[in-house]
Amino acid sequence: MFDRILIANRGEIAIRIIRACRKLGIESVVVYSQADTTSMHVKLANAAICIGPAPSAQSYLNANAVLAAAEIADVDAIHPGYGFLSENPSFAEKCHSCRIEFIGPSVDAMTQVGDKTLAKKLASSAGVPVVPGSEGAIENLDRAAELAREIGYPVIIKAAAGGGGRGMRVAHNEATLASSWISAQMEAQAAFGNGALYIEKLIQNFRHIEIQILGDLHGNIVHLYERDCTVQRRHQKLIEEAPSPILKKSERESLGKAAVALARKAGYYGAGTVEFLFDIDTRKFYFIEVNARIQVEHPVTEVLTGIDLVEWQIRVAAGERLGFKQGDIELKGASMECRINAENPARHFQPCPGRIQLYYPPASEHVRLDSHIYSGYEIPPYYDSLLGKLIVRGRDRDEVLKRMSGALDDFIIEGVATTIPFLQAILRNDTFVKSRHNNHFVEQSLGAS
Ligand code: ADP
Repeated sequence: MFDRILIANRGEIAIRIIRACRKLGIESVVVYSQADTTSMHVKLANAAICIGPAPSAQSYLNANAVLAAAEIADVDAIHPGYGFLSENPSFAEKCHSCRIEFIGPSVDAMTQVGDKTLAKKLASSAGVPVVPGSEGAIENLDRAAELAREIGYPVIIKAAAGGGGRGMRVAHNEATLASSWISAQMEAQAAFGNGALYIEKLIQNFRHIEIQILGDLHGNIVHLYERDCTVQRRHQKLIEEAPSPILKKSERESLGKAAVALARKAGYYGAGTVEFLFDIDTRKFYFIEVNARIQVEHPVTEVLTGIDLVEWQIRVAAGERLGFKQGDIELKGASMECRINAENPARHFQPCPGRIQLYYPPASEHVRLDSHIYSGYEIPPYYDSLLGKLIVRGRDRDEVLKRMSGALDDFIIEGVATTIPFLQAILRNDTFVKSRHNNHFVEQSLGAS
């Protein structure tokens, strides 16, 4: 096992990884920016190294600065968390060339699944259904128009290097295709330095269902069932839950098998998520992408299965075999996560950095809270607005809904606006309570565009 790990991240996920290190008897070293000197991850780690100024490009995204810190701290491995350098194969390669283990999949697997058009090809070759669309990136607008006619409108234009919903546009007919194409290209080029686009049929009425996978270096791969992350605003997840209330047992099994088949084909190890759109009308599912990292919503799966995903990421990176088989993994009860952000729902979810005057979190044996904030903490304006994740479990969904509402009512954060009132409104919404929601729910039922 590793002696010392560097955590190349901040916020709640850095703390989550520090805890996994502690559990395994590993020393944790964190990096931080000049804007994060009062961050909780800096206080909790065994050591902390400042790697640069506030903007991420000069600190958390600066691969050379992170690697220099890793060399100085003499660590055995780097855990990238999510975001930042977590899905960057060239960073993983640099780690290896410095003889530092990168806690994540192989460079090859990451490269294959990182390009969404390659990932789709891989899925097809593994027999996993994909959304009808172009085979790979499309060379120009004429070809896109031709293909869109073949597939049938509406279509969705997506960036091959995409992420976070950027570089994505819907075209309802040929008249709007050109303008959507050009704006998607510009956005993709600006966001990813790569303007390559592809198109797909637009699925209109779906649930976002993703499968958690975990593999070791010895060829063992399992899935840990699904998370239903349909409640999203502008492609940002707000609430995630497991099991998905709408799946039948056979559908759940097919999704799990498809995710494992894809992971096997990619030679995947470590933790990852295979995302699908589940068409509510036809009950068909389609692969959309692989997230080659630990995800924000991983606790939903951890509390249901009792499997510590971050611990296993570290164990498999150190060469250990998975300590369980597919048949050992059970879903017990139900769980749900609410993401709490420093955003003002009354003002188009505008981020609200500032000082937390008072912080009083809920607690009970059914509640887990992954957070990095405290009374008096000054939220810097430079990063993601996630303040924490409230995770609740229960015997069934009804119990979870009641407990989640109670926990949100008990949660006091003063000084900055948060998404708590919006989450409370979702939990009171009849469509959500009855699990009749689809991908348009937040926009249509809560009027939040
Ligand atoms: P990103 O990596 O940018 O997040 P994804 O491919 O994961 O992009 O898609 C983001 C979201 O866009 C999905 O969660 C879904 O809501 C929507 N989406 C993607 N593909 C389609 C599609 N073919 N039809 C309808 N919606 C889609």
